[in-house]
Amino acid sequence: CGIVGYVGPQGAGDGGAGVEVVLEGLRRLEYRGYDSAGIAVVTPDGVQTRKKAGKLANLVEELQADPLPAVATAIGHTRWATHGGPTDANAHPHVGIGGRVAVIHNGIVENFATLRAELAAAGVEFTSETDTEVVAHLLARACEDTPDLAAAMRAVCARLEGAFTLLAVHADAPGTIVGARRNSPLVVGLGDGANYLGSDVAAFIASTRDALELGQDQVVTITPDSVVVTGFDGSPAQGRRFHVDWDAAA
Ligand code: GLU
Repeated sequence: CGIVGYVGPQGAGDGGAGVEVVLEGLRRLEYRGYDSAGIAVVTPDGVQTRKKAGKLANLVEELQADPLPAVATAIGHTRWATHGGPTDANAHPHVGIGGRVAVIHNGIVENFATLRAELAAAGVEFTSETDTEVVAHLLARACEDTPDLAAAMRAVCARLEGAFTLLAVHADAPGTIVGARRNSPLVVGLGDGANYLGSDVAAFIASTRDALELGQDQVVTITPDSVVVTGFDGSPAQGRRFHVDWDAAA
């Protein structure tokens, strides 16, 4: 339902503001409605998630009881359940086999049952009832074949049917978020030494009003100081630059 991603300055002294920035984005997306919320951060040791059914306040409480590491790369999601009830386990992010990839998703993967059966036959154990979890495992497996997260995402998207906005982080790429979209919106927020992703501009309006709207069937890779867009086929592509001039900062 609602998607936020943030990559800020990496390394010592970065302030590690990932969780705070993403929570602020999720608060601004609350108007969309949701039944669960979750966050993932990426560290060189692996991805870590916290996720809770119910209001964002439940997630905030969980984060206070069991904080995530202070790092400057984070993704967050508010879920409107379509496949699997609103439970902690079904909340996003979903982590792929091996624990090094986390994925959030808006929309529906129409062919998830076929993909799930294929993964189950290969021995993958599922921890949720969502359509989204198949994407996390497919991406983890694709990353074994290519060290490039964007290339792995393109390979996975080629197998998906339906409507989706996806964000993914990988423990091998701590300062990077990869996003993809088909029939569901994704916008990049262009900051100064930091970049953002959102299902709409409300996700990052508190931080920047310079934005890039992704086109259909595109993949984007953001780091603190770069934004690279391609088509699902890997060909270079460009989003549409715009400035948010409506008063949404309240
Ligand atoms: N289909 C996914 C799920 O049920 C994503 C729903 C959403 O867009 O929030 O988990």
